[in-house]
Order: sequence, then structure tokens, then C-alpha cells
Amino acid sequence: MNPTRRSFLKAGTGAVVASVFGFDLKTAYAESRELKIARTTETRSTCPYCSVSCGIIIHTIGDKAKNVTAQVVHVEGDPDHPINRGTLCPKGSSLMQDILNDRRLLKPQVRRPGSDHWEDIGWDQAYNEIARHIKTTRDATFVATDAQGRTVNRCESIAWNGGCTDTNEFNFLAVKTMRSLGVVFLENQARV
Ligand code: SF4
Repeated sequence: MNPTRRSFLKAGTGAVVASVFGFDLKTAYAESRELKIARTTETRSTCPYCSVSCGIIIHTIGDKAKNVTAQVVHVEGDPDHPINRGTLCPKGSSLMQDILNDRRLLKPQVRRPGSDHWEDIGWDQAYNEIARHIKTTRDATFVATDAQGRTVNRCESIAWNGGCTDTNEFNFLAVKTMRSLGVVFLENQARV
């Protein structure tokens, strides 16, 4: 191919320049993608955004040696996952921006009744306040018997809602804990 001066100047990107000169960049692009994840550790997980619960692979770099903090470098759909078979919607495709985001909350926050803002609190304070609210609510609303006098021992004023990234083990413990309190309203955002 003999490009004219005009067609050469119009070629603004590497791909167009390559096509003008007849180069095929497919192999080069495939190589660069391969290099990006060549030495990563793959961790399988679930997209946290919606109840579809697509499978994802999180690629991290870092050899797990002392003083090395693993860094997420790529997130993609899991081709072996039966739900999405490697595909992700735009939200799932942007998951890396959720993981690496300087606006991500790293500590508990509370918004007091009547307040117009959230305040940072420590983990110990959060645990204590949550436990106190649960006990107060349960004590005030516990139902020991139903209208026919049958023993039911249930707490109808607290509900539990899990998320799609909760593991089986976590869900097992959550259900055991909630049932021990008499909580009957258990749900999970995901359908996995
Ligand atoms: S990738 Fe999209 S469809 Fe799949 S779980 Fe995430 S938000 Fe839902």
C-alpha cells in the first residue's frame, strides 16, 4: 500500500497507522493483554452490585512476601461461571474502580437520629452500639406466644439482609445467629 500524504496525516491512532501500512496489530494487542495478567494471582469472587451475582476473577500482583501489599490490577468476568460465562454488564466491568477508589469507606459511620450528617466511629463503638440496639429492640418486641397461646419465641422487629459476596460459611453463621435471636425475616440480595 502507498499511502498519500493526506491519508497518512489523517491516521490519528496507532491502529489506523498500522492499517494504512498493512500491519496487523491483533497479535500485538493479544500479547499486551497476556502480559498484563501474566504474573497475577487469580481470585474468584462474585460481583457485589446486583442479584444476578455474576462470577468474576480478580487479578492481583504481589508475591505475598512480608511487607508486600497485593495490588489489584485487573478484574474480568469468570468464563467458567455458570451465571455469566465471562460476561459482565457495565457496572460489573467497572468493578476495579470500586476496589481502588479513594472515596471508599474504610471505617464505620453512624447517622444519629435528627442529624444531617454521618460521623466516623471506631469498630468497637460500632459493635457495642449495634449490640445494644439489637438487645433493646428484641427485649421490647419479643413474641413468646401467638394469639392462640402457642409458643413461637420469635422476634418480628429485626430483619437480616445478606449480600451476594457473603460466603456459604458466613451465611451459615448469620442464619444461626439470627435464628438464635428468634429473627424470622431473613433475606439475601443474591439468588445464588
Ligand atoms: S456484572 Fe452486572 S449483572 Fe452481573 S452481578 Fe454485577 S451488576 Fe449484576
